[in-house]
Amino acid sequence: MHRLTDIGWEDYSALPLEEKKAYLERHDGGGMPYHTLFAQQFDRRILERLCALANRIRFINKSKEGALYLKGVLAHKRAMLYFSQPSSRTFLSHLAACQLLGITTGSVRDAATSSEFKGESHEDSIRTFSSYFDMIIMRSPEQGLAEKMAWELSNSERPVPILNAGSGKDQHPTQALLDIYTLVRSFETKGGVDGRTVTFCGDLKRGRTVRSLSYLLTDFNDVKQVFVAPAELQVPGDVIEILKAKGVRYEIADDLRAATKVSDAVYMTRIQDEWDNSKGESARIDTSRFKFGAEELALLGPDGIIMHPLPRRDEIATCCDHDPRAMYWRQMRNGMWIRAALIASTFGFEQEIMNCGY
Ligand code: ASP
Repeated sequence: MHRLTDIGWEDYSALPLEEKKAYLERHDGGGMPYHTLFAQQFDRRILERLCALANRIRFINKSKEGALYLKGVLAHKRAMLYFSQPSSRTFLSHLAACQLLGITTGSVRDAATSSEFKGESHEDSIRTFSSYFDMIIMRSPEQGLAEKMAWELSNSERPVPILNAGSGKDQHPTQALLDIYTLVRSFETKGGVDGRTVTFCGDLKRGRTVRSLSYLLTDFNDVKQVFVAPAELQVPGDVIEILKAKGVRYEIADDLRAATKVSDAVYMTRIQDEWDNSKGESARIDTSRFKFGAEELALLGPDGIIMHPLPRRDEIATCCDHDPRAMYWRQMRNGMWIRAALIASTFGFEQEIMNCGY
């Protein structure tokens, strides 16, 4: 059994992600994450368990009795939502997931309203939250902060779990979970996710959801990944290195229409210009060929789907919104169910919910 209390921060942080994974698991031997920090913590077996639990929660919640049962499951827990970066869906769906399970929540969404404004460090703020809450769901522009805090808290007298709700340009593991859940549900009655072709399009260089989802797709058999972007925004080398090491088929491309014709899922992303190094850097890139509209829709197969982590700008035309293949609205709601599943299993309630009488 690996524990974060048995390893110093320097040694832990030097480990490859796949080796870090064991330190972040719950200690009951079931392999579920305790701290959720990056996509590398999830393998196929865990993804299947989480999707099954999300389906179960969704079903139980349909009846009033079931919803009341769910509200009692974690009524003894409190969660802090600490979002020091803008968010609509990730914040609200985590909040809604907590509410489904009866968790009491608190939130800080703007450091200017907390003691960070008085000069308190993020680290001290998070330690403060752990005094009052049993879980910290956090989004930060700082890559690695959630991980550092997971180590710090595990080595404190209040070792509460950290759930990474987006860390810099790096990872967004719970978005990747909801993306997988959406793919699994979309292809459930059509032969499953194995063997599919998934195209990523847009700002693949700075989109953290792309890095996390690309990794989770490697847990499936023979899923081909196509990366369509302007050269300046192409997918980073570390993502490609993982695909090569795992023998995953991939293609770097710049023709969205050609890719759409052969794709089962097209995952659009917005230009992440908040990370520009100089003013107007992204605006100078020609992104006109990396937008999904009526012509691309006509090329997508009848079972194909369009996804987007949202928010969108103009990379998906609104004329696509009512097409049954537009999955981005459903993705949002799927986020609530899979996050409820993750939170319930983080606290060790997976089996209880799976086996309850509803
Ligand atoms: N909402 C997603 C994220 O937080 C995607 C985006 O902002 O473009 O990364």
